[in-house]
Amino acid sequence: MTAIAAVGLYADLDRLASEVSEQVVAWRHDLHAHPELSNRETRTAALAAAHLRSLGLDEVREGIAGHGVVGVLRGGQRGRRVVALRADTDALPVRDESGVPFASTVVDAEYPGGPFPVSHACGHDCHTAMLMGAATVLAGVREHLPGTVLFVFQPAEEGPPVTEDGGAAAMLAAGALADPEPTMVFGMHVGPLPKGHVGYRTGNQFAASTLVKVVVHGQQVHGSTPWLGADPMPAAAAIITGSAQLYRQLPAYNPMTISFGHVEDVGRFNIIGESVMLWGTIRCSAETDMAEVKDRLRHLAQHQAQTFGCTASVAFLQDVPAVRNTPEWVSAGLPTLRRVAGGARVAETPPTLGGDDISVFVSRYGGLYVLLGVQDTAFEGDRLVPVPGGRGVVANHNPGFYADDDSLVVGVRLHAHVAMDHLTGVLDIARRP
Ligand SMILES: [Zn+2]
Ligand SMILES: [Zn+2]
Repeated sequence: MTAIAAVGLYADLDRLASEVSEQVVAWRHDLHAHPELSNRETRTAALAAAHLRSLGLDEVREGIAGHGVVGVLRGGQRGRRVVALRADTDALPVRDESGVPFASTVVDAEYPGGPFPVSHACGHDCHTAMLMGAATVLAGVREHLPGTVLFVFQPAEEGPPVTEDGGAAAMLAAGALADPEPTMVFGMHVGPLPKGHVGYRTGNQFAASTLVKVVVHGQQVHGSTPWLGADPMPAAAAIITGSAQLYRQLPAYNPMTISFGHVEDVGRFNIIGESVMLWGTIRCSAETDMAEVKDRLRHLAQHQAQTFGCTASVAFLQDVPAVRNTPEWVSAGLPTLRRVAGGARVAETPPTLGGDDISVFVSRYGGLYVLLGVQDTAFEGDRLVPVPGGRGVVANHNPGFYADDDSLVVGVRLHAHVAMDHLTGVLDIARRP
């Protein structure tokens, strides 16, 4: 393809993106009002699949690893590259206090551990709607595409119930990306960066994470005679407190953190229960630290429990690798990101201990993962500050998380331009014919 032809195609992508943008916002509002928890994304998957089918894609595969959907769009030109564009589709057990007219009132009464209020407090409604929009755009230029686009709608990014399988690893195991295998994976996450800004990080964009389950076993006894039993509660407290000191046992140069967000006990105000369960997450910016953190946490838990006459078992579930952007993929992708967002709105961002299991796809096939700003914020040096009169800096997973509708078209264009550039060889790290 000549440079002039490419420029014409970029204009086509932008025109089609702007034409579909109203529809993208409508999809997003609908998805936001009907959020579904991890591994329960039936309605969301059906909506995405129906849209892909309406575009006349070559194949629409459904029911992959639960509610995964993959659409296959084969371009009209010869080309061997395959780009996988990925969106996660699940919501969170968080109240919706975003204050928008399409706020969620959904409660999932049947979910394990529930009932839970359900909302898109991580913005996956935006991700799903933007990828549906990108499918419209790319289907609109299919005769010019030299290769194949996979539209990957992935469930359970936030982690399925611990008794279930799911997420990116399960999709991969189910062969979701086996035919054809992508030569690049691309994904993004909305967040509190300024509206329309694209953040990237060379190296680990997101941290490695694992879900921690600690069970402290004691011996049930009346609250008036704790010495006749073994109280697991102070042992659990000591484990939580001690875990906050573990960072000092590792080199301080790579941030890591341990958080216990959920404690479950079986006691009563005057009965010391026989066990306490702690649910938490470990985040390591350097993946190589994870094994040592796990060892030290297990050691801490077992010994603290022993101090109180209890025992502890520690399990690590749902290991998610770090999202790594290699320098090669970043430099290959930057011109595309800058063309879409405008050079001044593309910036390297500080490290975060967030996680995203797109890492399973990116580490297997290569690719790029970026952040898309959707909030009324500005940079003051490295710090994000609220814009006067705006809705503030509200991080993902907060009940008040919000996303600006007008920024979504930038995400649609990112998907479309990255796909076009990869298939035409403009964005690639390997010299493939
Ligand atoms: Zn999240
Ligand atoms: Zn998320």
